[in-house]
Amino acid sequence: MKKKQFKAESKKLLDMMINSIYTHKEIFLRELISNASDAIDKLYYKQLEENIAGLSRSDYFIKVTADKEGRTLIIEDNGIGMTRDELENNLGTIAKSGSFDFKKNNEAKEDIDIIGQFGVGFYSAFMVSDRVEVKTRAYGSDEAFCWVSEGADGYTIEPCEKDGNGTVITLHIKDNTEEEDYDKFLESYQIKHLIKKYSDYISYPIKMEEQVRKELPKAEDAPEDAEPEFVYENEEHVINSMVPIWKKNKSELTEEDYNSYYHEKFYDFNEPARVIHTSADGVVSYTALMFIPKKPSYDYYTKDFEKGLALYSNGVMIMEKCPDLVPDYFSFVKGLVDSADLSLNISREILQHDRQLKLIAKNIERNIKNELSKMMTDDREGYKEFFKEFGLQLKYGIYNDYGLHKDVLQDLLIYYSSSEEDMVTLKEYVGRMKEDQDKIYYACGETIDKIKMLPQTDMVKEKGFEILYMTDPVDEFAVQMLAQYDGKTFVNICGDSFDISSEEEKEALKKVNDEAGDMLSKMKDAIDAGLAGVRFTNKLKNHPVCLTSEGALSVEMEKTLNAIPMPGDEKVKAELVLEINNEHRVADRLREIAASGDDEKLGKYAKLLYAQARLIAGMSVENPTELSDLICELM
Ligand code: ADP
Repeated sequence: MKKKQFKAESKKLLDMMINSIYTHKEIFLRELISNASDAIDKLYYKQLEENIAGLSRSDYFIKVTADKEGRTLIIEDNGIGMTRDELENNLGTIAKSGSFDFKKNNEAKEDIDIIGQFGVGFYSAFMVSDRVEVKTRAYGSDEAFCWVSEGADGYTIEPCEKDGNGTVITLHIKDNTEEEDYDKFLESYQIKHLIKKYSDYISYPIKMEEQVRKELPKAEDAPEDAEPEFVYENEEHVINSMVPIWKKNKSELTEEDYNSYYHEKFYDFNEPARVIHTSADGVVSYTALMFIPKKPSYDYYTKDFEKGLALYSNGVMIMEKCPDLVPDYFSFVKGLVDSADLSLNISREILQHDRQLKLIAKNIERNIKNELSKMMTDDREGYKEFFKEFGLQLKYGIYNDYGLHKDVLQDLLIYYSSSEEDMVTLKEYVGRMKEDQDKIYYACGETIDKIKMLPQTDMVKEKGFEILYMTDPVDEFAVQMLAQYDGKTFVNICGDSFDISSEEEKEALKKVNDEAGDMLSKMKDAIDAGLAGVRFTNKLKNHPVCLTSEGALSVEMEKTLNAIPMPGDEKVKAELVLEINNEHRVADRLREIAASGDDEKLGKYAKLLYAQARLIAGMSVENPTELSDLICELM
């Protein structure tokens, strides 16, 4: 019989595979067991769909047998099996996955949980075997075939005998080498350990023959003190717990159990930051197992990211990612929900509008929020780490949907505080407010350090008010959406609604500005940059100038909005006012120049001051050449 070559690309791939894809040889067992489980799933769903009275779930099995003497390890299943063509297609071409095709051809059932997708798992068998035999009989067929290969140089397929549908894979385990111990893959206890480690939640029984020591009954005439006698017998045991982790009692589960489930299921090398394992009974019953990751997945902040929790009905997965189960602002949460109240046969469309599902989602939202609040109080450092990664998402959540969700989210926010020099909550801020304070003060900028340098902060701090420093572009949009917290209005200290002076001070300042009206309007005209005005202020302490925005659009918002590419290159512009510290020497100097009637000089000084104010606010100077010339002229 002629040996067939693996398809050209397969050969190279197979070599590469065997030597490099997997760091741990032991995973071959997981791959083969997952394939067996997939094969059973396929049969199970086929019968369900075609209304064939098949086996009940518990009659399906995967059996693993190790034979030390013969140096073989056998993995058997009574799943859907393969026809000759399928054998050829699935095992003759690497990276050709039958499971993937099955998924592709079953649009309506795209959410069926079939583990294999990449079409390479099977070949991991060659990492530990020098010969692999696959005997298989497709469901509904009376022919069986045997596929045999010794690795990269090809394979044969021949008809053979096999009872019943399913697949039997026999691995001829390699001999030990100096670097590698292959014998361990023939030891029952090692195999058992691997099954527990990787395949414990496979939902079909994984059976194994195990040797058990049995005490023989004592002979009737045996003396009282006779030594007990033992025999060794082989017994078939189910190795895996099958019960999915979330159906187990919380008290039986260790952190390790949760973590390893998380790593395996969600391909995250980090441990989860928090685990939420919760059950509800009532109007709607469900169990949820959710994880708050430490870090966002690489695609989290891209539009490719798909949110959602897996949805199970009685332990059977019906949807891999059900987006309706988590709101966008908690979309970083990974996990699953299992509810007996949802029927497996319901089509996905109906399911998404299911009233039960909505109720569950509502509860899930509360579960997640409570866990985050808990983390915030009992592990602030951990929460800060979390917030660094996902705070942005919460802030978007506040801003989106016209602030509909602000009540859920506002107490999860933390901001850098000028007085605490640490992240604080709004509640903590309000709790510390001075008696005469009725506003929540904040300032925005690119970094904390840059905000600290804003001239506006000096006076606020001197008066003993705490300021929240905000550095995310979305911050101000979110704060404007919040508008208030606990009845206290948010006020941007760089905005024109910010004023902490007394009534007398206000009056005095008004007089100063009225008197200087002529001079100020000359300055404004000289600057000629669409400025809303120039005026003296008493809000600055040490610094000569600052920029203040009027209306809803602030300097930081202008920067943010203009960073978004827009058709027609339209730019938004904040209404800016140049404010000059009335107590600063520069104010007197300006008045001197104005009094001398030297309008040209006044205009130049105005331009200089305006350029400075822009730089301080982190904006670019509109005409840097002119600025440079003016400075040199002064020098
Ligand atoms: P994957 O599992 O990623 O699809 P594999 O290389 O592990 O890729 O397997 C290739 C294909 O061979 C599978 O998709 C499946 O169609 C078929 N296959 C493998 N093992 C079995 C099995 N025990 N029973 C039936 N089909 C199988």
